[in-house]
Amino acid sequence: MRHFAANYIFDGKSLIKNSLITVDNSNNIIYVGKENDALIERPKMIFYNGILSPGFVNAHCHLELSDYEKTDEKDKGLSHFISNIISKRNSFNDNKKIETYDKIMFDNGINLVADIVNTDKTIGIKTKSSISYLNFIEISGTNDLTIDDKITYAENLILKFKSAGLSAFATLHAFYSASQKLYNYILNKSDNNILSIHFLESEEELNFFQGEHNSLYHYILSINPDFTKLVNNISNLFDLIDSFPDTATIILVHNVKTNKTNFKTDKNKYYCLCPASNLFLHNELPSSDFVYNNLDRIIVGTDSIASNTELDVFREIKILSQKYQDLKLIELLQMITSTASDALNNSEFGRFAVGTKPGIILINNIDLINLKIKDQSYITRIV
Ligand SMILES: [Zn+2]
Repeated sequence: MRHFAANYIFDGKSLIKNSLITVDNSNNIIYVGKENDALIERPKMIFYNGILSPGFVNAHCHLELSDYEKTDEKDKGLSHFISNIISKRNSFNDNKKIETYDKIMFDNGINLVADIVNTDKTIGIKTKSSISYLNFIEISGTNDLTIDDKITYAENLILKFKSAGLSAFATLHAFYSASQKLYNYILNKSDNNILSIHFLESEEELNFFQGEHNSLYHYILSINPDFTKLVNNISNLFDLIDSFPDTATIILVHNVKTNKTNFKTDKNKYYCLCPASNLFLHNELPSSDFVYNNLDRIIVGTDSIASNTELDVFREIKILSQKYQDLKLIELLQMITSTASDALNNSEFGRFAVGTKPGIILINNIDLINLKIKDQSYITRIV
C-alpha cells in the first residue's frame, strides 16, 4: 500500500486541497482522500508539489499516421490535407515510429485513447500497449455503387481487432465523405454504439454543406464524378445527426464551425476539440461562445502527427487556456479526464474511483494561488 499526497488531488471532477490517493500493491485505488488528509503523517506517504490527476484521455487520435512525414500541409486547408493523406499515407511504413508514439502518449500522461483506424497496422502495438484504446474503424465513400466493398473491408478490420481482444466500432469518417447507403448502414448499427465523426473542421467544409462548389467539392468530384451529396444544406446536416437514436453516443470531432443551437437535442452528443491540428491546417479555433456554452460536453484530442507535432492532450488544454482565458483549471482538466471517459462510456478511466487503475499523473509548476496552467506547467507520470 502506498499514499500519494499533493497540494491538490483532482479526482476527475473537483480539486481536493492537501489530500492523497492510496493504492494497493497492484496500483488499484483503494482510497481517495478528503481535504487536509495529507496533513496527517502516514507511513509510505510521498508528498508532491502540484496536482495529482487521473491519467488523461485522448479523445481523438490516428495512431497509425504517426509515421507520416509532412510536406506542405500547413495552412493549406482541408481538401489539400485529405488529398495529401490519401495519396501519401501508404508510402509510410515505419512501425517502430508508430510504436514510439504509443509510448510517448503514455509518457504524456495518457491512459485511454479513442483512435481512428483505417488499417490493421496498430493491432500488434495496441495489444502490448500500456494505454487502453477504443478503435473507431472509419468508413468513407461517396459512391453507393462501390460502398459495399468498403463496408466489407471495414467489417473484416473490425473482426481482426476483436479477435486480437481489442474493441472496434464502425463509424463515418465525415458527412461530406459519406453516401446515403453508407449513412444508412451506420445509422442502422448505431443503437447503443459510439460514433466518432469529423465535423465542421473548417470554413471550407461549412461552405461545402451550404452548397458552394469550392475546393472540397471539386476534390470529391475528382474522386467520384457521379457523386451525389448526402447533405443538401446546413439544417439537413443537423437533421442527419439528430436522426441517430438516443442510445447512440455521437462524438463530433473538431467543431471549428459548430453552432449547437442547430441541434434539437445535445444529450447524446460530445464535442471534441483538436486545437493544435486546427491551428496547423486552418489557423482557426471554435468560437468562444461555443466553448463557454458547452463545457459539460467538450472533450479534447490530438488528431494525428499528420496535422500536429505532438500527441499530448495536456499541451492541447494549454492552447485552450491561452485562447479561452476564462476557462477554469478544473474545466480544462475535466475535458481530458472525466468528461472524455463519460463520452467513451468507460468508467475505468478519467477519475479516481476505488477499485480502478486510471493512472496517476502529477501536474507540476501550476499557479497554485490562482489555479491556472502556466506555459511552464508540465506533467510527470507517477503510476
Ligand atoms: Zn481526425
